[in-house]
Amino acid sequence: MPRVDVYDSVVIGAGQAGLSASYHLKRLGIAHVVLDAEPRAGGAWQHRWDSLTMDDVHGVADLPDGPAPGRSTDRANRAVPAWFGRYETEHGLPVRRPVRVSSVTGRDDLLEVRSDAGTWLARTLVNATGTWTRPFVPHYPGAETFAGEQLHTHDYPGPEHFRGRRVLVVGAGASAVQFLGELGPITDTLWVTRREPVWREDFDGREAVGQVLERVRAGLPPASVVSVTGLALRPQEQAAARLGVYDRRRPMFSRIEPGGVRWDDDARDPDESAYEPVDTILWATGFRPAVTHLAPLHLRSEHGGIPLLPGTADVQTAVTAARDPRVQLVGYGPSASTIGGNRAGRAAALAVRRHLTRELVRLEA
Ligand SMILES: Cc1cc2nc3c(=O)[nH]c(=O)nc-3n(C[C@H](O)[C@H](O)[C@H](O)COP(=O)(O)OP(=O)(O)OC[C@H]3O[C@@H](n4cnc5c(N)ncnc54)[C@H](O)[C@@H]3O)c2cc1C
Repeated sequence: MPRVDVYDSVVIGAGQAGLSASYHLKRLGIAHVVLDAEPRAGGAWQHRWDSLTMDDVHGVADLPDGPAPGRSTDRANRAVPAWFGRYETEHGLPVRRPVRVSSVTGRDDLLEVRSDAGTWLARTLVNATGTWTRPFVPHYPGAETFAGEQLHTHDYPGPEHFRGRRVLVVGAGASAVQFLGELGPITDTLWVTRREPVWREDFDGREAVGQVLERVRAGLPPASVVSVTGLALRPQEQAAARLGVYDRRRPMFSRIEPGGVRWDDDARDPDESAYEPVDTILWATGFRPAVTHLAPLHLRSEHGGIPLLPGTADVQTAVTAARDPRVQLVGYGPSASTIGGNRAGRAAALAVRRHLTRELVRLEA
């Protein structure tokens, strides 16, 4: 039987949130390991599509003691991974990869972290697995009969792939807006959304993130931060806007048929056609938190989300699972952005230290 070391903490995921947590755990002298499923540094950024440049992203926050690359025409899927890789080396972070965690279970007072590369035992856990590995596609009747191509943001191959096709973009988030901006000038695009998109001139980021936290506190699944911040058209999208791409939006169709999509009468504007033929459906319908490996810990509420305890400072420091304070979730709910992940990483390291200190006092008593 191989010897299994007991760590004070295991961090799962080496994206922005996991690296930030590891940096702070190291500073606090907490023995830990970071397990990451990817073969290389970069978290989800290494999988972003090639046409996404550092000018296109909404803004990547600094890591602690590690300034972000900043705006440029460099590809985001190269610039951010290169930066993460340097950061891991410069700060000597204990990242092990590729290690895909399959489950975390309670074993006596410890947590057992099982993976395709072995088992780790830990007193606490920092979960930083992001959302990229769980693309979400809503179900619509007839989806399986569609004879054309269906793609999700996760697999967006860049605009050239779509040239000459009739493309239906689904979704009211930032990715949909960007895809329409790229595709509008070179293809025939249609846009459908479940909700009326909220365009914004200005927004209060703190208030928006607070709205996401309220859902998480109530035990509801987290909504994306963009769903409450609203959307803005950036200079890159102005050409498509002048073509009217964003004005031709329709409500969601009722069903999918082999050659296109159909609206039932009650879902249709009388001036619009009941059927639209399309070659490709591009689902820009978001992601869900990648937390299925935590299922054995029963952290979820009856509403489907993992409730978090209130943060010590503000909404982005809410990281501790209400049902098991050994478990910290970073990059989840209110901290699901680069700045949020970054701040949550620090809050998680401090929460881990508090928990370990309390345990020590308990054992000594
Ligand atoms: C297209 C797109 C553009 C975005 N642009 C921005 C932006 O401009 N600014 C911004 O602030 N936010 C942006 N976001 C959101 C932002 O990417 C995330 O909030 C942030 O980068 C996520 O960091 P993270 O560390 O939480 O997760 P990730 O970067 O996803 O890292 C999670 C890591 O965990 C690993 N992992 C997952 N499951 C397991 C497992 N079971 N075992 C082991 N490892 C596992 C993954 O492989 C990955 O390496 C964007 C999101 C998308 C989808």
